[in-house]
Amino acid sequence: MSDSIFTQIIKGKIPSSKVYEDDEAIAFLDIHPVNKGHVLVVPRKQYRNIFDTPEETMAHLIVVAKRVAKAVKEAVKADGVNIVMNNEPAAGQMVTDHVHLHVIPRHIGDGFREWFGVGTYNAGEMDEYAERIKKACD
Ligand code: 5GP
Repeated sequence: MSDSIFTQIIKGKIPSSKVYEDDEAIAFLDIHPVNKGHVLVVPRKQYRNIFDTPEETMAHLIVVAKRVAKAVKEAVKADGVNIVMNNEPAAGQMVTDHVHLHVIPRHIGDGFREWFGVGTYNAGEMDEYAERIKKACD
C-alpha cells in the first residue's frame, strides 16, 4: 500500500496541527472541521478501516479518542462530542486507505446532523435482522 495522506502527515511530509501523540497513534485537527476543534485520531500503522484493523489497534484508538474527547470538550467549551468512524465509501469514508476516528465537538443548535433515524421495520423483520447479525457475530 502506498503512503496515505495521514501517513505523510505522520512522517512529517505534510504539515498538521497535532494535539496528541504516542507510540501507536497520533491525533490532529481535521482540515475541514464540522466544528472548530474537530480532531482525527489515526494509528501510526496504516490500515484501511475497521475491517482490517487489529482489535488491539481499535482498542487503542478508542482509548485515545476518549482522552481527546475530554480535552476537546474542555478546550472549545463544547456541549457534547460525537465519535464518528466512516468505513468504506458507502459510509462516507473519503480517506479510504487509512483508518481514523473523528472526535467532533458539538454545540447546542449547531445544526449538524449525522443521520436521521427514521427507518422502520415490518412486522417480524427486527427479529429476522437480529438473527442474521447474531449468526454473523459467531
Ligand atoms: P472520512 O470521510 O474519510 O471519514 O474523513 C476524512 C477526513 O480527513 C475529512 O474530514 C477531511 O477533512 C480530512 N482530511 C483530508 N485530508 C486532510 C489533510 O491533508 N489534513 C488534515 N488535517 N485533514 C485532512
